[in-house]
Amino acid sequence: DAAHLPGRLQVYQQGRDDAHQRQISLIRDLRHAASNAELLLYYQPKLDIRAGQVHEAEALLRWNHPQYGMVSPGEFIPLAERTGSIQILTAWVIEEVVRQLHEWNSRGLHMQVSLNISAEDLGSLQLAERVAALLAGQAVAAEQLVFEITESAVMQDPERALEVLHSLRNCGIHLSVDDFGTGYSSLAQLKRMPVQELKIDQSFIRELDEQSDDAVIVRSTIDMSHSLGLKVVAEGVEFQRNLDLLRLWNCDTAQGYLISRPLPAQAFEQWMQQWQP
Ligand code: C2E
Ligand code: CA
Ligand code: CA
Ligand code: CA
Repeated sequence: DAAHLPGRLQVYQQGRDDAHQRQISLIRDLRHAASNAELLLYYQPKLDIRAGQVHEAEALLRWNHPQYGMVSPGEFIPLAERTGSIQILTAWVIEEVVRQLHEWNSRGLHMQVSLNISAEDLGSLQLAERVAALLAGQAVAAEQLVFEITESAVMQDPERALEVLHSLRNCGIHLSVDDFGTGYSSLAQLKRMPVQELKIDQSFIRELDEQSDDAVIVRSTIDMSHSLGLKVVAEGVEFQRNLDLLRLWNCDTAQGYLISRPLPAQAFEQWMQQWQP
């Protein structure tokens, strides 16, 4: 009983109760976040290292909660995945990205936009059908969409997930392996996935220097990807010297705060207009 705890313990217990209460509220409110217009997407540019140009961006979800303000996806996505509301969020993200691509296309800004897909989304064969139906009504090409999937998401039910990935690929959607090198990675699994791109996790990029173990991992991942015919993205690029090394090692694409933080759609458009390599 918190009332009988000595001072510091009581504060600690209070903190835990608040955190617990917050989780309960977030789980409850997640179901209505989309219909209450509390969700928004930020866009982070992906730099084509060789060409020095930006034609791609990753859409990252933000939740402006009426009580807690901006809640980070690192907090609410795992809750949504555990409580069965992730599909609602994913459906909203896909629709919003397609709507945004349509708007940008009509203004002559032709982007390829990637978005994040969870394990639970890969459980349903309807995913590809719904995306195809959505694209049919819009002047947006399937090739403008990239779905980012982690290997651990595929591992939850590999047979079903691979079936879903193939049906997405048959629609013309591009697929990318996210967070490569973390968790469960197997080359056998990678070979079975119909993917065009691989993203090296930012934990390998952050403290990259020529002599480190990370350098060995990053260089061999780039070479391996190229031999498998995949494009390679380095995420979490924060420093110029890291970009220089990645260029030297023939990495295709860089994403990170060095190029830009994720931006709201309008700020992203402005960034695209003024950006010079
Ligand atoms: P992720 O897919 O690996 O996305 C990259 C994360 O790294 C983003 O965090 C991005 O803001 C951050 N980041 C980008 N460049 C840098 C950098 O140079 N340095 C550092 N320190 N961080 C950088 P964010 O937006 O907070 O998203 C966190 C995670 O939440 C994402 O990781 C992804 O797993 C998940 N997520 C975000 N949006 C969605 C979504 O729409 N659906 C699903 N299922 N998951 C999402
Ligand atoms: Ca991602
Ligand atoms: Ca990632
Ligand atoms: Ca990540």
